[in-house]
Amino acid sequence: MAPRKYEEIVTNFSSPTLVLAGPGAGKTYLLADRVKRLLDNGIDNESITVLTFGKDASQHMREELLNQTGHFKIEFKNLPHISTMHSLGFTIVQEKPRYVNLLKTNLKVQADDVAKRLLFRDAALICGFSEAYSKEAIGCKEHGDCTEEPNKKKCIICSKYREVMAKCNRLDFDDQILLACKILEKYPDILEKYQLQSEHLLVDEYQDINAAQFHLIELLSRKNRKGLFTVGDDAQSIYGFRGCDPKFILEFGDNFQGAIVVTLLHSRRCHRNIMEPSFKILKSNYPAWTGEPKLKYHKPDGDTPYIWHLPNELLEAKQVAKVANSAIKEKKEVLILTPKKDFFPILTKELKKRKIPHTCSVNLTPERLQVVNRVIEWVQDPNDNFKTRLVVEDFINTGIAKVPGADKDNRSSSTTIAKRIDEEIKIAKLWESVSKKNDLFSVIKNYANPYMTLAKLQEGFASIDETYYNFKGNNRGEFAKKIAFVSGVWIEPSKMVEDILEVVKILKDEQPTGTGSVRLLTLRKAKGLEADVVIVVGLEDDIMPNPRANNIEEEARLLYVSMTRAKEKLYLFHCFKRPRNISYGPELTKKPRSRFLVAIGRKSEWKGTYKVKS
Ligand SMILES: [Zn+2]
Repeated sequence: MAPRKYEEIVTNFSSPTLVLAGPGAGKTYLLADRVKRLLDNGIDNESITVLTFGKDASQHMREELLNQTGHFKIEFKNLPHISTMHSLGFTIVQEKPRYVNLLKTNLKVQADDVAKRLLFRDAALICGFSEAYSKEAIGCKEHGDCTEEPNKKKCIICSKYREVMAKCNRLDFDDQILLACKILEKYPDILEKYQLQSEHLLVDEYQDINAAQFHLIELLSRKNRKGLFTVGDDAQSIYGFRGCDPKFILEFGDNFQGAIVVTLLHSRRCHRNIMEPSFKILKSNYPAWTGEPKLKYHKPDGDTPYIWHLPNELLEAKQVAKVANSAIKEKKEVLILTPKKDFFPILTKELKKRKIPHTCSVNLTPERLQVVNRVIEWVQDPNDNFKTRLVVEDFINTGIAKVPGADKDNRSSSTTIAKRIDEEIKIAKLWESVSKKNDLFSVIKNYANPYMTLAKLQEGFASIDETYYNFKGNNRGEFAKKIAFVSGVWIEPSKMVEDILEVVKILKDEQPTGTGSVRLLTLRKAKGLEADVVIVVGLEDDIMPNPRANNIEEEARLLYVSMTRAKEKLYLFHCFKRPRNISYGPELTKKPRSRFLVAIGRKSEWKGTYKVKS
């Protein structure tokens, strides 16, 4: 891979191009610059499509291009197509929804993982398989290699799941791509339309595509391969669990004839003393890595990472809050990154104690309120089969039709679990009676000679429906009481007060991000972000790398991505002690630090009050 001049890369219009660009190399600038050069060369903006990984990145790209005081100063009417790959997929599906058994009106994307698992479970049970098989089927579709082959067990479930989803007129995240490809392959005129608008196809984050996404890119660029311009970094590939694979980067030259692969050798975000320790982690844990690039650093060398050893999670949280506090006093942006969300409660508690404004990436709305929310959503739209199904689950989990054993763990006896599964099968089979003319609510309402659970469901739905009707006629107190009763939440009034106070607190804590702000996220959510100060916690060897992920290479890349969010300072924390709900391994004390910290090759600094014998 011979290094080439920037000018040569951005104006290469004669072959498919892959630009390898490390963290903070100026990828967004490069893509925007490419658009500008295309327009300057007389290319019609209608034939340029830019695909980004997330919605924020799309928005950022638009702003960068339109900024009239910036570099590009593009007029709004000359803006190319800019979207995420998934929303482009959704647009394509809307061209011929009937071909994939969906309807254009009210077609929705279903992105909730809990609901997805529930509908997959229904699909497996309808087909006579156990719930365990539904997990395999989920993986099949997530990896983007679902072929719906009738002789594969998991794909029988995939097909049934799609049937159920069609009855809900919803498609999930993966199907936006999979079904779009299906439509493009079937209808040449639709394919041509999208190929024309992708004659110059720019793709960001090329390392995080899976087989289905690769297929979509291949279809769209088939007419004009020379216009394919992709940007990525195999070292930042962190979505292996969704079937994304750095192999698409490593094999770019084989996949597209005449392709050139070039490297952008700039580090504009991180200084040398952050990049070099991060490279060490890749070097010792990711053998297939394309190798350490000789970077041109655009910033003076700063501090090397602070590697701190804390006695326990409470002192870790206090130390995190202290660092964050002094950073925001200097109007710095702070990112706090954790291996999983179980770290959030103790960290947010310490931040709140010090009145440090912060945002947190997970939905902290109490579960009980979420249940109520689903019931209210349903009653306003009782013919929506998806909403009905979610409420059925709430009713059998905690509500009026409660069937114990939902978790199927060792807290329930085997008889309880067997009974529960039996009920789940009966409920799953209700889908078989659902049709265009007969929605799920009607199926339940009109079920003749109902068995006990079904009778209870009928009672629950009917009473909510009825009191909602009265609610509109001014009996609000009664409606609230009914919801609380049938959904099984707030049997004690004190719980209701507790939940409402919690929500008020969440709303109060919400602060805009920007200078002087603190954001709390899991490592995986750090993609595409940057901050002056980055703090990574939980770096013990049985948490990071996560032994359950069973993919050391990807875990190394994940930490690499996290560390290289830092513009100035980087803090890496690990603890002597860690509670059981967070540790994956059996050891709760004397926890060895992560092998990734060992790879950096420096000792940790002990930040405790007592001596530890090692
Ligand atoms: Zn499948």
